[in-house]
Amino acid sequence: MKMFHGVELSAGTAAFLACPQRMLIGGELVDAVSGETLPVVDPASGEVFCRVPAGDAADIDRAVKAARHAFEAGEWSRMRPVDRERLLLRLADLLEANAQELAELEAIDNGKPVTMARHVDVALSVDFLRYMAGWATKIEGSTMDVSVPLVRDREFFGFTRREPIGVVGAIIPWNFPLLMAAWKVGPALAAGCTMVLKPAEETPLSALRFAELVQEAGYPPGVLNVVTGHGHTAGAALAAHKGIEKVAFTGSTEIGKLVGKAALDNMTRVSLELGGKSPVIVLDDADPAVAAAGAAQAIFFNQGQVCTAGSRLYVHRSRFDEVVEQLSAIAASMKIGPGIDPTTQIGPLVSAVQQQRVMGYIHGGLEDGARAASGGSAGEGPGYFVTPTVLVDTRDNMRVVREEIFGPVVVAMPYEDLDEVARRANDTPYGLAASIWSNDLSRVHRLIPKIKAGTVWVNCHNILDNAMPFGGYKQSGIGREMGRAVLDLYTESKSVIMML
Ligand code: NAD
Repeated sequence: MKMFHGVELSAGTAAFLACPQRMLIGGELVDAVSGETLPVVDPASGEVFCRVPAGDAADIDRAVKAARHAFEAGEWSRMRPVDRERLLLRLADLLEANAQELAELEAIDNGKPVTMARHVDVALSVDFLRYMAGWATKIEGSTMDVSVPLVRDREFFGFTRREPIGVVGAIIPWNFPLLMAAWKVGPALAAGCTMVLKPAEETPLSALRFAELVQEAGYPPGVLNVVTGHGHTAGAALAAHKGIEKVAFTGSTEIGKLVGKAALDNMTRVSLELGGKSPVIVLDDADPAVAAAGAAQAIFFNQGQVCTAGSRLYVHRSRFDEVVEQLSAIAASMKIGPGIDPTTQIGPLVSAVQQQRVMGYIHGGLEDGARAASGGSAGEGPGYFVTPTVLVDTRDNMRVVREEIFGPVVVAMPYEDLDEVARRANDTPYGLAASIWSNDLSRVHRLIPKIKAGTVWVNCHNILDNAMPFGGYKQSGIGREMGRAVLDLYTESKSVIMML
């Protein structure tokens, strides 16, 4: 039985880690064509504990061909929607049955607290697959009475069909590896598409275990293919591949633009879920203790490595000191440790690069005149820790206020009135999410339409529901995942006009 930071891993995790890791292509577990591998690093110690295939363009090509074959010729192409539903439900059951193992893999690979991984990442993935399974049998078109002015003596009949878009290339980030895989795979397979999935190079393990469960669920070969590898090789090859009909990308705005351009060169459909710099707006009537706890959860959940992280906190001047004091006390009290320890509240960041990036922002902010009301340092030990950090005395033009840090760092700023805070909240290239903390319904309702963001939470933050569309305004992305809206991303509409 393998021990990790003094915690005994479950038998399933130990068995998975003992095997050489392979990618899933065309129903077979394979090495990279090149034979190369990538290290998998434990972010809590910096040590390599496993290796995965370093897939590149050659592997992507094989996987796209396998997905094409499954889409056009295999049993999948003839499968009834009700059978697609049953398969997705079986996959969800398998995820649930292996929840502890999947949570442990997320904790040791990404560094996130295992308790969160179990009750957020894995639980939401299971629920989402079940939700999407239901849609497999509910994809429908509409009928129209067609009238043609020039041919009044003939009757016409029109209807629309929604057809699976085809082979999908999905590229996902490292912050919620399993959940992001589920967000792509669920709707694609519900709609009857096939997929090549490329997980982030930092966190390939849960996607490889997910691939095994897809096999176990009984999916025909080639329906889901998983290729591990670097972004600039495997990811770029997938985005630019002429053999796919759609690219679904979640990641940074910078890479999203590259992926979008590569896809549009082939007129490949593309949806992008990108970065954010989401405001948390506390009105003067809010209970400071509630607002401080909410603001802490908004930024420190998943070490702040959340696209919707509440990284800019605007508090009405009359409540500012109180809220910042309580938020700083929460930040200082959080237990930092390896993700696999069930008592950990703040794990390490995902990589040395990410730790350096976040510390660079903190140091830059302090040099520019900000002050750390809490945190502001790298944690102790060899892992990639950063203490939960609250910065005050910032100005709106500082980089820490403007750029996505993607770490446990919040900038707290006072404001005077609602028009001012709406303007400052929108003064960002991003528009993914925002939260408003108040019980004054009228003012909350007046503020909601002013905020340019795909999701606005009131008295909560980071709450998702499978039925609610999720996505960004402005440079936070294109398209909406989840809910009925996601089906538009994985289907094409065909209009049929018949002369009777
Ligand atoms: P990233 O953009 O560096 O990487 C994301 C994925 O893209 C990885 O799989 C990577 O290998 C791949 N990639 C890298 N270069 C590529 C290239 N040239 N061509 C094709 N693929 C390439 O992002 P990250 O650092 O892994 O993730 C953090 C970012 O993701 C943050 O900006 C965050 O806000 C964003 N994010 C957004 C959402 C959302 O739903 N809007 C969700 C999670 C994360």
